[in-house]
Amino acid sequence: MSVTRKDFLKLSGVTAAGAFFGGVSFLGGCKAAPDKLKGTKESTTICPYCGVGCGLIVSTRNGKIVNIEGDPDNPINQGSLCSKGSALYQVANNDRRLSKVQYRKPYGTEWEEISWEDAIKKIARKVKDTRDATFVEKEGDVFVNRAAGIASMGGAALDNEECYALSKFARVLGISYLEHQARI
Ligand code: SF4
Repeated sequence: MSVTRKDFLKLSGVTAAGAFFGGVSFLGGCKAAPDKLKGTKESTTICPYCGVGCGLIVSTRNGKIVNIEGDPDNPINQGSLCSKGSALYQVANNDRRLSKVQYRKPYGTEWEEISWEDAIKKIARKVKDTRDATFVEKEGDVFVNRAAGIASMGGAALDNEECYALSKFARVLGISYLEHQARI
């Protein structure tokens, strides 16, 4: 099949228009049908996935999430969301979502369910033991008080205040390897 220059330009125009309107619908985000949101309470939050930090409006009814969409008032995303952010509703309402702590013993082959209280105790024990075993008090004549065996990694799910509290806590322990997902 031979394609004339005119045909080629026409085809390019249609493709470009399709891409443009596809882009517009992506950037516009998904709006829920108004009826779906009747009687819901709206709260704003931040997408937990990546370091962009897009703003979300979460609508709840009787304590259950019924809709999540981009927040048009948020200066970062102005209402738009990528495909991961747009699918957040399915993370909140999903039979396959783990809601209990799963623990696998050292050398174990099976996961077992433990309470949050037990999980926190185990984590605290490991932090203390690791800090005690790897603590560097001095380098030469200089006091460094460094917990050399522990690193702290923040994520986009943490807000500013949580990041502040976490980094203070890490520094109190002597952790100097502090990183955040958005910087990597
Ligand atoms: S919606 Fe997408 S781009 Fe925005 S923070 Fe979430 S994952 Fe990142």
